[in-house]
Amino acid sequence: MTKKNYEETELYRIRHSSAHVMAQTVMEMFPGEAKLAIGPPIADGFYYDFDLPRSLTPEDLELIESRMREIIDGDFKFETRVVSAEEAREIFEGQPYKLELIEGLEGGGVDEYGEPTEAAPEITVYTHDTFIDLCRGPHLERTGQINPAALKLLNVAGAYWRGDEKRPMLQRIYGTAWKTNEELEHHLWKLEEAKKRDHRVLGRELDLFSISEDVGPGLILWHPKGAMVRKLAEDFSREEHEKAGYDFVYTPHIGKAQLWETSGHLDWFADAMYPPLEIEQQKYYLKPMNCPFHIQIYKSKTRSYRDLPVRYAEWGTVYRYERSGTLHGLLRVRGLTQDDAHLFCRPDQMPEEIDRTLEFSLHILRSFGFDQIHAYLATRDPEKAAGDPAQWEAPTQALQDSLERSGLPYQIEEAEATFYGPKIDLKVKDALDREWQLSTIQFDFFLPERFGLAYVGKDGQEHQPYMIHRALMGAMERFFGTLIEHHAGAFPVWLAPVQVILIPIADRHVEYAQGVADQLREAGLRIELDDRSERMNAKIRDAQLQKVPYMLVMGDREIEVGQVSVRLRSEENLGAMSIEGFLERAKTDIEEKK
Ligand SMILES: [Zn+2]
Ligand SMILES: [Zn+2]
Repeated sequence: MTKKNYEETELYRIRHSSAHVMAQTVMEMFPGEAKLAIGPPIADGFYYDFDLPRSLTPEDLELIESRMREIIDGDFKFETRVVSAEEAREIFEGQPYKLELIEGLEGGGVDEYGEPTEAAPEITVYTHDTFIDLCRGPHLERTGQINPAALKLLNVAGAYWRGDEKRPMLQRIYGTAWKTNEELEHHLWKLEEAKKRDHRVLGRELDLFSISEDVGPGLILWHPKGAMVRKLAEDFSREEHEKAGYDFVYTPHIGKAQLWETSGHLDWFADAMYPPLEIEQQKYYLKPMNCPFHIQIYKSKTRSYRDLPVRYAEWGTVYRYERSGTLHGLLRVRGLTQDDAHLFCRPDQMPEEIDRTLEFSLHILRSFGFDQIHAYLATRDPEKAAGDPAQWEAPTQALQDSLERSGLPYQIEEAEATFYGPKIDLKVKDALDREWQLSTIQFDFFLPERFGLAYVGKDGQEHQPYMIHRALMGAMERFFGTLIEHHAGAFPVWLAPVQVILIPIADRHVEYAQGVADQLREAGLRIELDDRSERMNAKIRDAQLQKVPYMLVMGDREIEVGQVSVRLRSEENLGAMSIEGFLERAKTDIEEKK
């Protein structure tokens, strides 16, 4: 939903009104001392920022919430009126943040949340009961329209005034409000579930990856189990790339300044690049992207129309500067490896290349269990687009035609393309309905021009090929983070770092278990033998915590008939079966990528 659409919904008005009711309560708690900043609705809830004489406690939140219910019960009317700047200053005397906002409103160009706005807005206030706020609405008609059973305050966090670390640190109370108690409960369940699925927590518990202070922030260390998942994902994807007609290339991690000047990266991507290294009086930069290298390979010989399409793929590791405050586990990092590829093709091949790339992308995403995929087509922004408008038409149309043929739900983002070409982004919805951007298919009219890319046509003349950047999984780090959260760490059998754990009940059963282990290993399964002298139940519990797909338990009874008892991590008990029977079941699960 766009911001504009959201503003027109009832939920928006419920949340905005809840923020006002909350602010009234806080003003009452600290009479004459509470300073109000801003309090907008946000996705799934609302917040309000306050400058208070002391820190709020969880008990305070409970008190605020119960007082809010009284105000809701009072069914006070929300009323609005237009005021002059002078009147506004009188109303908000002693409220320095509001006075600063009034100044912005008066000067024009800034709204009551301190955000830039086009028109110079009128100054309006909203009142209910004893509370008044600088506000353009919209609100409910009465406080009684807020459902007290669908309202909850969540937590308090620090937030700088206007997001500026040089300005005062305020206390932000987050809350959520819905139409029904059922919706609220579902949302709270999702928040809890998201905490449990947090890839940073699971990454530690399942021993998948870490970030070391000694290495540096945003730089991922893949532990053996995480690295196994990545290797399996890469192996699968490499095989599929070969089938799809890609050629693999390898390129260095640094390149001369002049290369990045020609590519334009030093003009438009410099903020994300690290300072140069100097080698023999030449400046070199760490690569933020792989494209210029692949272009050099394309340019290493004369290309004829018969050589096209050329498809170069590389698991290319790139480095990008992100402010330390914005780094987040695997999702936002400073060093990342993309399943990157660049396509060079003739205009007559272009629509088919787009079709193939989109289909390929869907195949890869679905293989990892992402079934809900939404596409976004970004079109030309006349203000900043490179190339002439006509150049954009055919590729944009081809992207849209491919989307139509794919049957994917998609939406067009007018004028949202980067300056160098139109693109499709694919976002997946995970098990908690959260959207994650993974694949991108991006035209480029800029680099072929800058690097003078050409092929010799049937007519013997030089022509410029189309160039397409595409990454399907995107950054492996981000993809892995998404995968962990989507599956809550319980990877499908084909990706599980350990697929089977063997649990002998007592020490006298270990020898039999070793024999079974050899058999399974030979069949290609990734196994672990838990031969600790622990109780069986403790071993099963540990295996479940490690989210191992199959647990094979063996004791006197199983040994006597040469079988194993099979349990799943879902706690389902499949009972006793022969080793061959188990192997068959495991192979089917692996092949079907369950
Ligand atoms: Zn308001
Ligand atoms: Zn590229």
